[in-house]
Amino acid sequence: MHSTSTIVLNSEALKSNIEFIRSRLGENVRLSSVVKGNAYGHGIETIAPMIEKCGVDHFSVFSADEAYKAHKVLNKKCTILVMGAVYNHDVEWLVEQGIEFFIFDMERAQVALDAAKKVGKPAIIHIEVETGMNRTGFTRSELEQLVGLIKENSQHLKPQGLCTHYAGAESIANHVRVQKQIKKFNKTYEWLKKNGVTPEVRHTACSAAAMAYPKTHMDMVRVGILQYGYWPSKEIFIDYLGKLKTEHKIDPLRRVITWSSYVMGIKVVKAGEFIGYGTSYLAQQNMIIATIPVGYAHGYSRVLSNQGRVLINGRRVGVIGTVNMNMMMVDITDVTGVSKGTEVTLIGGHEETAISVASFGELSNQLNYELLTRLPHDIPRITE
Ligand SMILES: *Cc1c(COP(=O)(O)O)cnc(C)c1O
Repeated sequence: MHSTSTIVLNSEALKSNIEFIRSRLGENVRLSSVVKGNAYGHGIETIAPMIEKCGVDHFSVFSADEAYKAHKVLNKKCTILVMGAVYNHDVEWLVEQGIEFFIFDMERAQVALDAAKKVGKPAIIHIEVETGMNRTGFTRSELEQLVGLIKENSQHLKPQGLCTHYAGAESIANHVRVQKQIKKFNKTYEWLKKNGVTPEVRHTACSAAAMAYPKTHMDMVRVGILQYGYWPSKEIFIDYLGKLKTEHKIDPLRRVITWSSYVMGIKVVKAGEFIGYGTSYLAQQNMIIATIPVGYAHGYSRVLSNQGRVLINGRRVGVIGTVNMNMMMVDITDVTGVSKGTEVTLIGGHEETAISVASFGELSNQLNYELLTRLPHDIPRITE
């Protein structure tokens, strides 16, 4: 049975985004492709091999189950790095497969050590340090213990990386905090080196930091949202445009995803009538509305009630009233040639103008991340 909407992934757009990201990085900076959150909703199993085809050989995920999915579909030469949650009982599997992972407290370090001894292979660890986000990461005093443990067990624990995460690099409001984090990170690296532990790969930058703070590139960057064709925030986009040395200012990113559905029904509504549940939308004139079989159960956020935009026959039209669980209504009063079955683009679109107006980036950046990652796993992902 077919789902009520379809997701198409454009490999040319992906390739062009990755080339753009690469063009911003120095020659010796490695690109790690962040594919957590089901690859930002694109479907990890579908898109990870597409990203690999673009020459990327390093992938970052959040958890062990995501690592498992990536591991299944990627060439075994690719490096996989788990940045977040792992059950203690899954650590052995990571070590066996040579999958790398963040450690951020002594308990995790000890579990890694035990697993390495048991499996008979070193655990390849990335030491996450606390630099100011106050989420996960070793504080200085905990690092002292860790250094001891690593030195005593150098055949079992391989400190491959040193890493941290910035607390909001996408907004200039956090500039001072980010600068402090960079400083603290560099100091920590020097301190570790002096104490006999020298991680090979320093990595701190997400998309926003990679764009706005080149000194955060270090040995590797962990880039998520940019690959998929979205800016981490409007500020980062404007900052990028402002620094361009050309008059020809265009968005270099291309949306990889096109999410589309179809018109399920059409209705004429008289002026003065409410449309949908309750009183959230009152027809000010006679209107024609189309129903679309996509709602919040399919990942179309209720926040987009009376706000969202979709594309029909190349025209941008507004969502009318509240987004329902499985349906929404849009205003097609001014669109010609719409009938049952006409394609409706929810995200993306082929025409140049459509791409920038049809997506949700303009409404809210947070929504970019949230809406994409909430796209249900069971909508088929098709490659073009
Ligand atoms: C999500 C995440 C990234 C990538 O973030 P983007 O803004 O999508 O580039 C990088 N590092 C860590 C630790 C993350 O959790």
